[in-house]
Amino acid sequence: MQILKSVKNLVILMAMADEAQPIIGQLSLTEKISETPLLPMKIFHGHFNEKNIHIIVNGADPEHKVDCIGTVPASLSTFMAMQQFNPDLIINAGTAGGFKSQGANIGDIYLANKVQFHDHRITIPGFKGFGINESNINIQFNSLSLENLSNKLNFKIGAISTGDSLDMSSEDKNSMETYGACLKDMEAAGILWVSKLYNKPTLFLKSVTDIVDDQHPTADEFLKNLKMASENLSLALIKLIKCL
Ligand code: SAH
Repeated sequence: MQILKSVKNLVILMAMADEAQPIIGQLSLTEKISETPLLPMKIFHGHFNEKNIHIIVNGADPEHKVDCIGTVPASLSTFMAMQQFNPDLIINAGTAGGFKSQGANIGDIYLANKVQFHDHRITIPGFKGFGINESNINIQFNSLSLENLSNKLNFKIGAISTGDSLDMSSEDKNSMETYGACLKDMEAAGILWVSKLYNKPTLFLKSVTDIVDDQHPTADEFLKNLKMASENLSLALIKLIKCL
């Protein structure tokens, strides 16, 4: 159990520029010159509710000119957060696919209570657990449990499963169903792997853009709902930061 008394220094990790744009505007953050100019990550800084806030956005891949989504850039931005800002708390804020079989709807906001990888299948003896890397989020805020906090803020709570594909193979789907995943994303478990090495409290706040267990093509639904979900995410982040 990690107990947080007060959060003065907060880092928010976000994968996509479109997801980050509403919160950067709402908090009037300004871009900072990066200490690591060869990395695509962009850093935004400001103050809100007596907190020093940095947002690291993964930035665009120089070769393919699209946002650096997925676990590899996410783990690098987490390492940057540790090295450069030594935060009291990290929040990974982003969009996610939702499982309607677990009650998720487009536009919902979730805090994760557990995280796993669904596409790290390693059958070599001893490596299975390392691959899946199931972890519970055991953080307490003064006297509030994670569950109390999400009830207070009117967020849902549930399991997130991470993989590096926007679609899912039947093996991925089985893994997520067995885990009881409410959400599917492409960063959370990569971020948590680094946070655990540093013993750094980390929250996952996700806004649902698409439903993965229905007939609609994920990419179309994602693009259609990205703006609305990112605006919801920004409002949810502000509510959450006011509570910390
Ligand atoms: N097709 C989009 C790319 C979206 S990738 C485009 O062209 O811009 C999806 C991003 O949102 C990732 O950062 C991931 O964490 C999150 N996400 C949203 N819905 C998802 C889903 N169904 N599966 C996995 N990740 C999802």
